[in-house]
Amino acid sequence: MFIGCSDSRLVPHLLTGAGPGDLFIVRNVGAFVPPYDGSHGLHGTTAAIEFAVLSLEVERIVVCGHSHCGAIRAAYEGAPKRP
Ligand SMILES: [Zn+2]
Repeated sequence: MFIGCSDSRLVPHLLTGAGPGDLFIVRNVGAFVPPYDGSHGLHGTTAAIEFAVLSLEVERIVVCGHSHCGAIRAAYEGAPKRP
């Protein structure tokens, strides 16, 4: 399983050399994985992890950050001001 940022500069297949069907991919802004909280809310990334591990029997999960990530910059420095 590969969890990566939505940024188009991140290309999982090029980074890993994987072919079609090799990776179960989840992408979101910043490649964030929220902590488990046990609620019945809408948990896209955690639901994908649960499906991958329990149904697809995925044994390895890569959480891939990348350089110059705007989401990470915003997390540390705040969102850019609107013009
Ligand atoms: Zn990013």
